[in-house]
Amino acid sequence: MIIFSGGTGTPKLLNGLREVIPEEDLTVVVNTAEDIWISGNLVTPDIDTVLYLFSARIDMSRWWGIKGDTYRTHEVLNELGHNEFMMLGDLDRATHIMRSDLLRKGLTLTEATIRLCNAFGIKARVLPMSDKPVSSVISTPEGKMHFQDFWVGKRGKPEVLEVTQQGIEKASISPAVLDALEFDDEVIIGPSNPITSIGPIIELPGMRDILKHKKVVAVSPIIGNEPVSGPAGKLMAARGIEVSSFGVASYYSDFLDHIIIDERDRLDENRFSDIGCSVSRANTLMKSLDVSSNLSRVIVEKLRAIR
Ligand code: GDP
Repeated sequence: MIIFSGGTGTPKLLNGLREVIPEEDLTVVVNTAEDIWISGNLVTPDIDTVLYLFSARIDMSRWWGIKGDTYRTHEVLNELGHNEFMMLGDLDRATHIMRSDLLRKGLTLTEATIRLCNAFGIKARVLPMSDKPVSSVISTPEGKMHFQDFWVGKRGKPEVLEVTQQGIEKASISPAVLDALEFDDEVIIGPSNPITSIGPIIELPGMRDILKHKKVVAVSPIIGNEPVSGPAGKLMAARGIEVSSFGVASYYSDFLDHIIIDERDRLDENRFSDIGCSVSRANTLMKSLDVSSNLSRVIVEKLRAIR
């Protein structure tokens, strides 16, 4: 089973999915368009969250970073006048150092990620979407900025005029992801930001065509007209996509078979037939492991029902 993931909503789902499907049968294809070099190391926020989830290190109160981490290096760097706009933990930084060292030695991001998976004792396959750099760039009245500058540096406040994925035309699906997609027919699009987490994966050249031949079930990250968290609403609106689960389904409509929306959502289900996908409802607000594993059971049932 292949799961497309960002760094918050889908990792919450993976937490329950691994209770339903053996971890070694999960291949997680992770967004890398939020990656950024900070203080000499490549930080890959979404990959890191997935690695920390599977290795039982994740801080589940925030869904980023390592639980119990300290920030001494970050504090000293700032005292020295080396302004780090992202708060990086000391333990977290060890992952970034190892990854960057491997990259500097000539390994691809996929190879470096597999090394980290092995080092952490992770049985799932965690794969970056691409070995080539892609960056989500946000255009605002203050100018263009990397997604992390917008979301972490400026706390998501500037008006969003446009969102683009820099480097996407020249990027390619990584060979390991292509290989996984050749042998697996079941794809879950997790409840992640459609524009900056799932968008970069599905906009990789050739990906939408591959997905047309797969069984694809998505979980909506939107309830009513609001995302559960984060800037998805603002970014969808800037792309001219309706901020609703219908908007999410429309963006995926060329390959989507089924979408699971939240049981609280009042959306008219008849709208989905126009875009050729079926819809069902479940509790998608993953406040506990139970909700997440129940949702995972529904997803697997829906995937297996697709002909
Ligand atoms: P990012 O890389 O940190 O932006 O993480 P993601 O894109 O994976 O996650 C952000 C998205 O997850 C947002 O659009 C949220 O609405 C969605 N999300 C977070 N928690 C939940 C949840 O419990 N249920 C659902 N349905 N969506 C969620």
